[in-house]
Amino acid sequence: METDTITAISTPIGEGAIAIVRLTGPEAIEITSKLFEGKNLIKVESHTINYGKIIDPETKEVAEEVMVSVMRGPKTFTREDVVEINCHGGMVAVNRVLEIILNHGARLAEPGEFTKRAFLNGRIDLSQAEAVMDLIRAKTDKAMSVALKQMDGRLSSLIQKYRQDLLETVAHVEVNIDYPEYDDVEEMSHEMMSQKTKEVHDEIEELLQVAKQGKILREGLATAIIGRPNVGKSSLMNTLVQENKAIVTEVPGTTRDVIEEYVNVRGVPLRLVDTAGIRETEDIVEKIGVERSRKVLKESDLILFVLNYNEALSEEDKKLFEAIKGLEYIVIVNKTDLPQQLDLEQVKQFSDDRPIVTTSLIEEEGVDELESAIAKTFFAGDIDTGDLTYVSNVRHIQLLKQAKQALEDAMSSLEMEMPLDIVQIDVTRTWEFLGEIIGDTASDSLIDQLFSQFCLGK
Ligand code: GDP
Ligand code: ZN
Repeated sequence: METDTITAISTPIGEGAIAIVRLTGPEAIEITSKLFEGKNLIKVESHTINYGKIIDPETKEVAEEVMVSVMRGPKTFTREDVVEINCHGGMVAVNRVLEIILNHGARLAEPGEFTKRAFLNGRIDLSQAEAVMDLIRAKTDKAMSVALKQMDGRLSSLIQKYRQDLLETVAHVEVNIDYPEYDDVEEMSHEMMSQKTKEVHDEIEELLQVAKQGKILREGLATAIIGRPNVGKSSLMNTLVQENKAIVTEVPGTTRDVIEEYVNVRGVPLRLVDTAGIRETEDIVEKIGVERSRKVLKESDLILFVLNYNEALSEEDKKLFEAIKGLEYIVIVNKTDLPQQLDLEQVKQFSDDRPIVTTSLIEEEGVDELESAIAKTFFAGDIDTGDLTYVSNVRHIQLLKQAKQALEDAMSSLEMEMPLDIVQIDVTRTWEFLGEIIGDTASDSLIDQLFSQFCLGK
C-alpha cells in the first residue's frame, strides 16, 4: 500500500507551551533533514533527540530552535518512521514550522490519521483505534465549535456561499447538458462556468489576502531594515525598540544568528530583523544581484530603506531601489543634522510614490513622522482590524490555497475549451476543499448534494 508522509501539531497548544509537530511516513526523516540545521538526521541513531534549528530553505530564515526526536519504524506508534519536532516558541513558532514542513513534501494529517495509521499497520486494534478516534473527534469538534463561535461564523458563512455558488453552477451545467433546449447550450454553460469560477477565485484570493493580514497581526509585520553600511540601520532599530514597548523579548544568551525584535508601533506589530539579517542586506545586492535580492526582500511585509542625507545617492542605493521596486517600503533619509549632500528630488524620482521621511536619529528627530508613515502604510485601504484574524488557522489557509489552485486549473481548462465534465472535476475538488474548512466531510459528496438540493438524475 502506498503511504505518504503526514504531519500535524500533536500537542494542545497555548502561548509559551512546548508544542510538538509530528511527522509520520516514509519520508518523515528525509523531509525534516532538509529543513534542519544540526546533525544529519538521516545518519543519527533511532530514538535519539537532536538539537538544532528549523530553517526555511527558500529564505534561509531560522524559524525556530528545536529538539528533534528521530524514531525509525517499526518500533513507533505508527510503525512508520516518526519525527517529533519540539518547539518552545508557542503558537506562532509551531505554526511557522508546520507551514515550512507542509511546503516541503508532507501533507497535513486529518484528525485521527496518525491513529488510523497505527491501526492499519497493525500497531493497535480497532477498539483501541476507535477509543482514540472518539477522543480526538470530541476534541476537534469542540475546538471547531469554539473556533466557529470565535469568528462569528463569518468565515464559514463565506465558505458556505462559495460552495453554494459552485454547486448551483454545476447543477445548471448538468441541467443544460441533460436537457438541451438550445443549440448554444454548451457555449452558455462555458460562459457561466468561466464567470462563476473567476468570481469565486477572486473572492478566495481576497480572503487569502486578509489571512495574510491576520497572520501579520499575530506574528508581526516582517520588517527588513536595509541600506548601505553606516547609514543608521542599527540606530533606527534601537530607536524603534526604545520608543516602543517590545512585544516579545527573546531568550537571552541564545546562539541565534538572527535576532528579532517585536515592537508595537501605533498598533502595528513589527518584527524587526537585525544583525546577520542586516549585515546580509547591507551588501545583498552586491552579493547576489538585483533579481535574487528582490526575491529575498519580497518575503518582508515592510522594508525600511535608509539613506544618508550627508552623502549623494550612490550606485548601490540605486540598485537597492531597483530591488525593492513595487514592494511595500518607506524611504528614510537619515542624518539630517549633517550637511546636505543628497538630492531629495532625485530620491523622489527613484522612490515612485512611496513615503519619504527625513530623520536625525542622533537628535531623535523625525521619529514621530516615521511612525505615522509606518501606521499609515499598514492601515491604508481601511483595513478593519476586527476582521483580520478570522482566517488565521494554518489548516484553513492551506485549504484555501488548494481551493484556489483547483479553480485555477478549472479556469485554464475552460480557456482551452475543454469539455465541461472535465472542468467540473476541478470545480468539485474546489467544493471539497472548501468543505473541509467548515468540517463538511467527504461523505456528503457533491453528487449527494445535487440530488438532495436539485433533484437531478431522476
Ligand atoms: P548601520 O551600519 O547602517 O547600522 O549604521 P549605524 O546605526 O551603526 O550608524 C552608523 C553611525 O552613524 C554611528 O556612529 C551612528 O551613531 C551614526 N548615526 C546614526 N544616525 C545618525 C544621525 O542621525 N546623525 C548623525 N550625525 N549620525 C548618525
Ligand atoms: Zn548596523
